[in-house]
Amino acid sequence: MYSHRHHRHALPALDLDGQNVIIVDTLVLSPGVPLTQPAVEAALECGVPAVSELGFAFAALPVALPLAAVTGTNGKSTVTTFSAQLLRACGLTTWAGGNLGTPLSELALACRHGAHFDAAVVEVSSYQLQLPGSFQPNVGVVLNVTPDHLERHLSMLHYAAAKCNCFAHMTPDDLAIIQEDDEVIAQLLADCGGHPERAWLGRLPGCTLQGSQAHLQLPGWDDALELDLSGLTVPGRHNLMNAATAALLAVALPVGVTRERLQAALPALQPPPHRMQVLGQLDGITWIDDSKATNLEAAIAGISGLEGPAVVLLGGQAKAQVDGSLGFARLAPHLHRYRAVMVFGTSGPAIAQELDACGVRCIQTTNLAAAVAAARGLAQSGDTILLSPACASFDEFRNFEHRGQCFAQLLQQWQDAAQ
Ligand code: ADP
Repeated sequence: MYSHRHHRHALPALDLDGQNVIIVDTLVLSPGVPLTQPAVEAALECGVPAVSELGFAFAALPVALPLAAVTGTNGKSTVTTFSAQLLRACGLTTWAGGNLGTPLSELALACRHGAHFDAAVVEVSSYQLQLPGSFQPNVGVVLNVTPDHLERHLSMLHYAAAKCNCFAHMTPDDLAIIQEDDEVIAQLLADCGGHPERAWLGRLPGCTLQGSQAHLQLPGWDDALELDLSGLTVPGRHNLMNAATAALLAVALPVGVTRERLQAALPALQPPPHRMQVLGQLDGITWIDDSKATNLEAAIAGISGLEGPAVVLLGGQAKAQVDGSLGFARLAPHLHRYRAVMVFGTSGPAIAQELDACGVRCIQTTNLAAAVAAARGLAQSGDTILLSPACASFDEFRNFEHRGQCFAQLLQQWQDAAQ
């Protein structure tokens, strides 16, 4: 939170800590600060203008910079990264950041100091969209909205409404991209005053998939643009859709990308670390790190979209669902076809129990290292060992990155021992 001490008497004076009265003319909120924080509540009650860091930075950006925003519960970092990779491969100097890494304020600052970018792609969280200021991307994507962060948003409708603040200031010159079957988001979008053009993920105008063929169409286009995604090396069917979404975003930005350059760039797409990241091979077994799958929906995407036989590693600290269960019954239909399922961590026994009730037998282990050792004993040449844990990592690791790094180290140790 940013405030200044100066004496402009027309501005609200806040007694934030019972000792010091400060004069605040604008609150700029970091995404980590909830609106219910007492000092923020006090400021808002006094009518102090408040804006998220995103809205604050947006107001300082060059007006002509083509900007796309990506939000949603799962897939934001992947689609943001893919979009930037495609735009760069099309020869455009592209900034990518936001919720992913560098804050948008850094871009605003760099532009003030003379840096030039042809395009920017910003990953945006629901927290940043609670107070969006005048945020107005040329292209705004809401990938998917499933229950998450409800401790701060309190209801799914509030959470979805925060996501849709992305569209609040868009005009008919801008493009909103949403899921074809998300009626809540469609309604919230329809209620947006500025009436941006619309495109859908899953139908046209928008993008659709037929096998590994992507069809992209912007509103007003007679024909769809065809892209062949069969050359993609990043695993997971959801990543075909993520790549198609990124391509749609790239063609929708007013920067003049060509089909030929997009097509040529697709095979080189790489996900960010810990999102279906191929770590390497040992004895013909491929190791994939999807440690960022900290919730069920993300793990369902990773696990259901994988091709071929696999040993799946699940576990850590699971989040209780509204019905009190851990919700793993929803994952069960996607696990039947795999060679084995290992569970580990504090929620391991409860996960095994829920999956067992659905006819999925699990092998219970204590921690990640034990699960990996057991997986290695069962996997055969041609298999994948997939870490897509569907749980938070804090029972054993600092965070999901730490969990993914430990998984990679275990592979490295096995590889060193094999030499
Ligand atoms: P976010 O930035 O929204 O957290 P990430 O790109 O970091 O999303 O991916 C988080 C997890 O979600 C990963 O485990 C990834 O495999 C999974 N995922 C990626 N894309 C999608 C998608 N389109 N739908 C559902 N899950 C996805």
